[in-house]
Amino acid sequence: MPTWTIGDIEITRVDDPGFDLVVPQDAASAATVLEAGWLHPHFITDGGALVIGSSATVIRTPDTVLLVDPFLAFDDPTKLGGRLDALRDAEVEADDVDIVVNTHVDQLGVNLLADGSPTFPRARYLFPRQELETIRDGTHPQADEASALTHLWADGPCEAMEGTELLTTGMRLEDAPGHNPGHHVVWIESGGESAVIVGHLFLHPAQIALPEIDNGDRDPVLLAETRRNLLARCALQHSLLIGPLFAGPGAGVVLTHGDTWRLSV
Ligand SMILES: [Zn+2]
Repeated sequence: MPTWTIGDIEITRVDDPGFDLVVPQDAASAATVLEAGWLHPHFITDGGALVIGSSATVIRTPDTVLLVDPFLAFDDPTKLGGRLDALRDAEVEADDVDIVVNTHVDQLGVNLLADGSPTFPRARYLFPRQELETIRDGTHPQADEASALTHLWADGPCEAMEGTELLTTGMRLEDAPGHNPGHHVVWIESGGESAVIVGHLFLHPAQIALPEIDNGDRDPVLLAETRRNLLARCALQHSLLIGPLFAGPGAGVVLTHGDTWRLSV
């Protein structure tokens, strides 16, 4: 299980059990990603197909257990038990989680049980305000699937975040717009080191080499600008960039590479 330490904060990637997805590319796209040689072998195949991952990220600070994007996307109710077992293998019981951070809403992952109640009963559930508001008014692309969140927002435990909040010592949210109505990233900063969990700001590491790639995102121009700003800062301070949808090991330190960037895994 990949684990990283940032100062006195421990980060563990929990892979989605049995998840296996390779997305073939047309010849031109395959040739383009093969030019970014660093993507191979972790993130692309020999033929330039994209290898995709699925994960949840567990963060332990000295006093708080946080869970970020718990297997968001690729929802499948039959996988709930296996996914909770995988968290247990990382020594996280549902009762242990203090804060669940959702960078945005892309299906619901294992946030909720089949009856719509919270899977992590003690936790605060944090979502970008624009996501909750657009789900409530029906304009979010997944307003129907995510409607249970509006009840949990009215009654707790869901909370609307602005993307400026300090979550606990060494952890803060930052607004990262472009992919969805609302989208935040999670920064971890401790002991002079830093890491950022990027949610779906990057669906695949190829978008680090080619930040203009879009996949039907809400605002591709703004998204590319958000990516470039984040990558430039990461490269400056040698931050670890963690992508929940990246194939294992799912993270790397950002380095400048020609006109763009690459991950050092
Ligand atoms: Zn998404």
